[in-house]
Amino acid sequence: MSAQVVIVGSANVDLVTRVERIPGPGETVTSESFNVFAGGKGLNQAIASRRAGAVTALIAAVGSDDYARVLVDTVRHEGMDDALLRREPGTTGTAFVTTDATGENNIVIVPGANGLLNRLTESERDQVREADVLVCQLEVPNSVVEDAVTTAREAGTTVVLNPTPVRTVPAAILAAVDVLIVNEHEADQLRVEELRVPCVVTTLGSKGATLQIRGERTVRVPARKTIALDTTGAGDTFVGAFAAEIARGVGYAQAATRANVAASLSVEEHGAVPSIPTRQAVDEALGLERVEN
Ligand code: ATP
Repeated sequence: MSAQVVIVGSANVDLVTRVERIPGPGETVTSESFNVFAGGKGLNQAIASRRAGAVTALIAAVGSDDYARVLVDTVRHEGMDDALLRREPGTTGTAFVTTDATGENNIVIVPGANGLLNRLTESERDQVREADVLVCQLEVPNSVVEDAVTTAREAGTTVVLNPTPVRTVPAAILAAVDVLIVNEHEADQLRVEELRVPCVVTTLGSKGATLQIRGERTVRVPARKTIALDTTGAGDTFVGAFAAEIARGVGYAQAATRANVAASLSVEEHGAVPSIPTRQAVDEALGLERVEN
């Protein structure tokens, strides 16, 4: 059977505008460009897992507004089943992103339908039970994360948690986690070294990543040298690619190595979703490096 990943998480539309200078309170400025992108950590990570070759299901919620269509179309276009996207009355999750000429940005997030994803249905739980790997983040309520991870734990589905946006993770969720994937900032805030999680992967931006299996030494995953154009979505690419690898039965260290290459490729292009590499692109990067070494 093919490697199967289920993601329970957020789906947003990102409304991105570029300005010379971010306006202060009460100020108005004119935008230089405006784009609408599909985004949200759940959707980004699902696309990363799918492009890494895993059969991937996204359990998420969209609203009843016109933006929902952008997300439904994206999910279909990536070869995932949009039947698992719940349609809730009201707004789709929306991120208003303003970026200035120096790359600094301001973001306002409207949770919308993401905030209504409170519990799984019994058929959604079945999806989690049948999967090899479950991935969750914290852009949806803790109640649905707890429901998903405890269902996975009981069924023997491997649980990956990317605890972002960072907040205290309830003990009932942590107890069900197999792999925690954090960036340096989240690692500090959550004091991950004190958490009793079997495996912690810490992403280190341009320095690569580390992997700590409890009771064993830390494994360093060196960065792949690249010219970074836009790091948006690098963390999500890492998480999705890692999940797809472990769903194939690959060990954690090897999965982190490949996820690190996928994420490094994603920073070479603009945007979150457009920059997520395919399995073939990662193979090529690995192949090229082997020739060069
Ligand atoms: P973001 O919020 O920008 O998506 P993050 O803070 O969650 O990212 P990072 O640790 O910054 O996560 O990056 C995730 C992974 O992306 C790194 O482990 C690495 O593999 C890759 N990466 C990020 N920046 C670079 C870079 N400049 N060069 C090479 N690889 C990079």
